[in-house]
Amino acid sequence: MSILSNRAKSLKPSPTLAINAKAKSMQAQGIHVISFGAGEPDFDTPQNIKAAAVKAIEEGFTKYTPVGGADELKDAVIKKFQRDNGITYKRSEIIASCGGKHSFYNLAQAIFDVGDEVIVPAPYWVSYPPMVALAGATPVIVETKEENGFTLSMEGLKKAITPKTKALILNTPSNPTGGAYTKEKLEQIAEIALSHNIFVISDEIYEKIVYDGFKFISIASLDEEIKKKTIIVHGVAKTYAMTGWRIGYTAGPEEIISAMNNIQSQSTSNPTSIAQKASVEALAGSQETVSKMVAAFQERRNYIVDRLNKMPGVSCFKPIGAFYVFPNFSSYYGKSYEGKKFSNSTELADYFLGVARVAVVPGVEFGADPFERLSYATSMEDIKEGLNRIEEALKKLV
Ligand SMILES: *Cc1c(COP(=O)(O)O)cnc(C)c1O
Repeated sequence: MSILSNRAKSLKPSPTLAINAKAKSMQAQGIHVISFGAGEPDFDTPQNIKAAAVKAIEEGFTKYTPVGGADELKDAVIKKFQRDNGITYKRSEIIASCGGKHSFYNLAQAIFDVGDEVIVPAPYWVSYPPMVALAGATPVIVETKEENGFTLSMEGLKKAITPKTKALILNTPSNPTGGAYTKEKLEQIAEIALSHNIFVISDEIYEKIVYDGFKFISIASLDEEIKKKTIIVHGVAKTYAMTGWRIGYTAGPEEIISAMNNIQSQSTSNPTSIAQKASVEALAGSQETVSKMVAAFQERRNYIVDRLNKMPGVSCFKPIGAFYVFPNFSSYYGKSYEGKKFSNSTELADYFLGVARVAVVPGVEFGADPFERLSYATSMEDIKEGLNRIEEALKKLV
């Protein structure tokens, strides 16, 4: 009998976390690496949020809370959806978990069975396919194109639907592409989802990080019918620079939330009480720091997109949201450095790290090999230096 379960054997570690670990170990050896690998804001958690956590500790809010989060947190989440999206939820339709990733994981465990198909538009967030597979279901990858702003085409979506399709995953704005869905597109998707009776899992974690006045719309806000078929996965990590605090939340039909609650009650129990208090402050307190962060991200996005598009053979979609660019480097595949040929995004990323000392995440990990993902959640100074290094490295290829 083998030591490990088949489930464990089928899993590989998250590649984004792996790249960051490699870059950090080079740093530790004294090598100056510029990292575009980060999947988290480079800003500090805002002071008012930290203060709320300190207060929670001092006041002894340090015990178990209800499994799905304290009522105070659920109410802050309910208010957020009302205020920002015009959607009304009850407490029984909300659950807080240990990060948006955990929210998605529990949701997958709650609704997917062996034989179910789940449509995952590519490029996708690295964790969707493995989490779908861990629940026994089959991810069905549907490609999106740069020309369509990396959003689904309705033909592509319809073609992927079979009688086994249980759900469609939407991530708007998207990690890794920065693509986002307009109201018109969401209406078309809602119509298709309703006519085929499939759930929409809407990952809205980058809702607040949008540029040029883009108006974010949640598909659940379109009407009551689609709201009943939508489960929103969200969290405080990206909006409030709170990646380490581990609070995510899910909003959706009571039956599903209740099943997630059962799963959570037998696994992690409540997310950290102190982080819950901090998240109440994040959601309900001043939102001033959010606009400051977004303004900084927008300036960096403008710079990075412009620089990349000026590099020969590179094309880069201008993101609508999130803090990543997803440039196409495929015109360099087939070229060589010192006799070694690059034929895919992994080999090119290795070259960037080894020779240029710049960490990027290979597009293949997101289901799109022509691309590399660069996070611009790093200082302008590092962005400039990192792009100089990439530019020089590309020039060396023949
Ligand atoms: C970062 C991220 C999440 C969740 O992050 P947590 O740190 O677990 O809250 C979910 N979806 C996408 C697309 C992300 O990039």
